[in-house]
Amino acid sequence: MSEARAQLAGMDMGALSAFLQGLGAPSYRAAQVRDWLVRGVDFDGMRNLPAALLERLREVSVAQPARVLERHKSQDGTEKLLFGLMDSHVVEGVLMRYAHGITLCLSTQVGCLMGCAFCASTLEGKLRDLTRGEMMGMAYLAGSISAPERLHNIVLMGSGEPLDNYDEVVAFLRMASSPDFLGIGIRHISLSTCGLVDRMKRLAGEGLPVTLSVSLHAPSDSIRNEIMPVARANPLPALLEACRHYIQMTGRRVIFEYALIRGLNAEPRHAQELASRLRGMQCHVNLIPLNDVPERDLRGATAREVRAFQAELEALGISVTVRRRLGDDVAGACGQLRARRLKTPLPGAQVEGGE
Ligand code: SAH
Repeated sequence: MSEARAQLAGMDMGALSAFLQGLGAPSYRAAQVRDWLVRGVDFDGMRNLPAALLERLREVSVAQPARVLERHKSQDGTEKLLFGLMDSHVVEGVLMRYAHGITLCLSTQVGCLMGCAFCASTLEGKLRDLTRGEMMGMAYLAGSISAPERLHNIVLMGSGEPLDNYDEVVAFLRMASSPDFLGIGIRHISLSTCGLVDRMKRLAGEGLPVTLSVSLHAPSDSIRNEIMPVARANPLPALLEACRHYIQMTGRRVIFEYALIRGLNAEPRHAQELASRLRGMQCHVNLIPLNDVPERDLRGATAREVRAFQAELEALGISVTVRRRLGDDVAGACGQLRARRLKTPLPGAQVEGGE
């Protein structure tokens, strides 16, 4: 099965050298293959490799385990990408253009197991984890789309729970930050988690001080339990303790994501409760106006409520910003594009680019 074939895009230099040597190729071929892979090039374009080696490689491996199926460009420059995988699953990515450079948002799983009430990614559960090769491959393809501008940041905030795919995600973090591959500074990589306490503690000890974002979305366990099933096994006191541990181990502040949901968590008293929980912690709160998900019955707070919530937190000494809304017109929120694609299967009527 194609899925089981070795994925070159997921091999670090040691693995790639060993793999090529196993096929009888001299050691300098590893750097040549790597140079093509990082530019998003597949076997067809690897012009400096001998035909016999390419033939062998095609038999036993895939170079790029992802390809771009759809590209949707928003008015604001945000580009939503739909990637196709070898087993014909699809996952999303987003290229966002900020003043400080290009940020790529990547998925880490096909679907998601966590069941958050407001999130489209989890509607059909988790189908499978993504491999390190698929994640690297998507980053390479996104980089070739954004070229000549380099990817400046990567955020693991697409579909899936990164810490529920721990080994592949950590391998991805090592490769993406390695100068041998993407060379993106580890501080320019963010990992967003719904708050899996044990895995957060393990991550703190990896020597990979990524920016940790925690999807909090509530000031209390009673509200959190209503919208995030994961909160039951990972209650707030333990979660905040894990955050403090991460801050201590990495010297990095933690970012708390808080989606404001009308009638649930968006009132000034919720801001006050949140502030009292976070007081004294080296952290920042990122308020997210909820993207309405038609499949669910939850609506975002009004702009006025968002401003009031922000003002309340500020007054209580909490560092806070409101996330800019990008890509609304291209189904920019988690899982929305994939959900739409699943509803209206091939051919994608709005295909704008791709292959
Ligand atoms: N599983 C990880 C990463 C993926 S979600 C996590 O939970 O953090 C990335 C962020 O988007 C999370 O903060 C998530 O809660 C948020 N999100 C999901 N659906 C959303 C929606 N409809 N509107 C706004 N934010 C949403």
